[in-house]
Amino acid sequence: MSPELTAALALCRNLPSPPGIALRIIELAQNPEADITTAADIIGIDMALSARMLRIANSPLYASRRRIENLGQALTMLGLNATVSLALGFTVTRDLTAPGQGQDVRERAWRRSILSALAASLLGQARGLRKAEELMLAGLLQDIGILVLAQSEPDRYLPVLRAAADNDQLLALEREQLDCTHAEVGAWMAEQWDLPRYLVDAIARSESPEATEDKFQACVAVSGAVADIWLGTDADTAREQALQRVHDTLQLDSAQFDQVLARISEALPDIGALFETTLTSPLRVQQLIDHAQELATLRNLREMQDAAMARQRADEFEARANRLAEQAHRDALTGVLNRRQLEAVLEQEFNRATRHGWPLSVAFIDLDDFKKVNDAHGHLLGDEVLRAFASKLQEQLRSSDTVARFGGEEFIALLPNTTEAVALEVIRRVLANIVNTPMADVGGSPLYITFSAGVATQGGYERFAEVQDLLKAADDVLYRSKSLGRNRVIARSPDTAPA
Ligand code: GH3
Ligand code: MG
Ligand code: MG
Repeated sequence: MSPELTAALALCRNLPSPPGIALRIIELAQNPEADITTAADIIGIDMALSARMLRIANSPLYASRRRIENLGQALTMLGLNATVSLALGFTVTRDLTAPGQGQDVRERAWRRSILSALAASLLGQARGLRKAEELMLAGLLQDIGILVLAQSEPDRYLPVLRAAADNDQLLALEREQLDCTHAEVGAWMAEQWDLPRYLVDAIARSESPEATEDKFQACVAVSGAVADIWLGTDADTAREQALQRVHDTLQLDSAQFDQVLARISEALPDIGALFETTLTSPLRVQQLIDHAQELATLRNLREMQDAAMARQRADEFEARANRLAEQAHRDALTGVLNRRQLEAVLEQEFNRATRHGWPLSVAFIDLDDFKKVNDAHGHLLGDEVLRAFASKLQEQLRSSDTVARFGGEEFIALLPNTTEAVALEVIRRVLANIVNTPMADVGGSPLYITFSAGVATQGGYERFAEVQDLLKAADDVLYRSKSLGRNRVIARSPDTAPA
């Protein structure tokens, strides 16, 4: 604050001074020996103040179970700190809000102060601060500089107050015209009046945009922005701006903030009655409550959608990962297991069968004269036949069986828990089906194929030490079926000789 303004204010004949009753309450606030009885004595002198204290004690702001009939009960219920804070709030500002010059703009500032008081107190509660009345008082007095300037320097200040559309503009104009802000003037005044230190500091910091570590001061500093939600023309933008600041300085999230707004809206009629002011139209309050509820509903909806989307994305991701893993396990041409995966499955089944003494049958299948198919109809048709065959083979086996492409036109069928005799029967049935199923269409006529297969079984005719021995045994039998004339399935065991 410029020395010039300080001097002007100090010398100003119009400089407001707190009413006598306020001075005595200020003294009380500074006195460590103060008690409720002394407070009741002081407040009892002032009828208007006593009535207000009674009214506040009975208001829904203090949800008291029983009706409070007299001042003593009221102050006892409120406690000394609350009593002093509330009484100060009611008295210090009394003359400053009296009718007179610039009443319209002073009233606007006063309404903002009362809303700020409520906001500071409820923000503090949401943030877990246990100083509801002190916060209310600090919120109420943070803009006392405006009232002081309006009263002491009306010619200079009232035009400034009138010209400013919002608080930011007011601060800019004050800096330009007075070289100081109403926060500085308010803090200076509070110091002159000997108000408690915490109030002087909270007023001084009330317009500093930078975040403060002190949560009490932070509640006071953002309370004005919260009050503007009810006072400005664009409630949505004001809410967004206030939320940003509340989030930055008090770390309240949007849902917590909406709760604070709803509680402010609910308390408005009571606090307005206490200060004998209509703070805002009931319609506006209802709109704000509705809006907060609407936002909460929307947010829930959005959260539900987000959760559903996240779940869906996770499912898709998992499905894709599974598909990729599957693809890595599958033969690109035919879609049955590839050789590498066959080896893994074979190893597993072989160990399980060996451990439990279960039979495990392997059929080594090789298409007959396949080279001729390629030679006669081309490689692409050969591919088509391989695909058709693999799919038919798979179709005719149980889901617990495994079909794999060993390479070229050679396939393996793995039949767990299946004896050699049964496996032989199964693969023979497959062959009987395959020879009657067209595998491709060649210029309008169906193409048929045959295959040869050899079946070997772990735990049947013999026990193999290694899985490779089992495979080799099946391959040996396949070779035999080829040499016996193809288009047949034979087994390793002598008593399951070819039919
Ligand atoms: P055999 O009855 O003795 O088994 O005679 P074959 O002609 O089936 O046997 P061979 O081993 O001489 O020839 C296998 C043929 O399979 C040769 C090769 O071109 C063909 N082949 C291997 N892999 C593929 C493939 O992926 N696509 C096509 N179209 N043909 C393949
Ligand atoms: Mg071959
Ligand atoms: Mg072949």
